[in-house]
Amino acid sequence: MELLPDQYFDQLYARDTDLERVNEVIRSHGMPEISVASGYGRLLTFLISLSKAERVLEIGALGGYSGICLARGLSPGGELVSLELRQDYADIAQINVSAAGLGDRVRYVVGDASQSLAMLHSQGDRFDFFFIDADKENYPHYLDECIRLSNEGAIIAADNTLLRGKTIDSVKQGPSVLSMREFNRRIAQDPRLVGVHLPAYDGLALARVIKRKTEF
Ligand code: SAH
Ligand code: MG
Repeated sequence: MELLPDQYFDQLYARDTDLERVNEVIRSHGMPEISVASGYGRLLTFLISLSKAERVLEIGALGGYSGICLARGLSPGGELVSLELRQDYADIAQINVSAAGLGDRVRYVVGDASQSLAMLHSQGDRFDFFFIDADKENYPHYLDECIRLSNEGAIIAADNTLLRGKTIDSVKQGPSVLSMREFNRRIAQDPRLVGVHLPAYDGLALARVIKRKTEF
């Protein structure tokens, strides 16, 4: 087999100079090379345009790769709010998103995401789509916060549910792994959610928030 399944599908697509630029900037600044997989980036754009989400919240910006994918799915007037711990990363993400022509659709909030989420809630902000992709120990907490900030029927996506295989390796018992296992169970079992797990790349979870029992 010459190509792995993910690679086979990826190489069918045209080059994407905006996203290639992001990963070049990430390399040149010595930032971690952990942008979302290209196929999942396409899925994020697809889901936002399909669901007509107008207010999107991202947790973990890094260099703006997923930010570009999320903002691309927005219709004019839509907004992406992106939470990032590090000011230097948020600045780089902002430059990359602007270079892709999407700067007017994205607002960065710098600081610990737990505090930013509490602030957004106290302001009465609500969102239609969430992308969880920051510190893995906090995924269960972020899930609760996203549900609290959600409009009825909102979609929650979360990256890295396999943690490069550690999630399904019973020998691994570190804090990130334990949190990710709890998060994955909650996607499957939380009565407020209708969930699905995608096992390609490093794993992606999707869920729809169902607050009123009448839906579905
Ligand atoms: N979503 C990005 C990748 C994010 S990598 C993409 O696919 O393009 C994870 C990011 O989460 C890093 O930028 C890291 O600085 C940020 N992060 C880690 N802990 C955080 C926290 N407590 N609050 C906010 N951001 C955090
Ligand atoms: Mg990720």
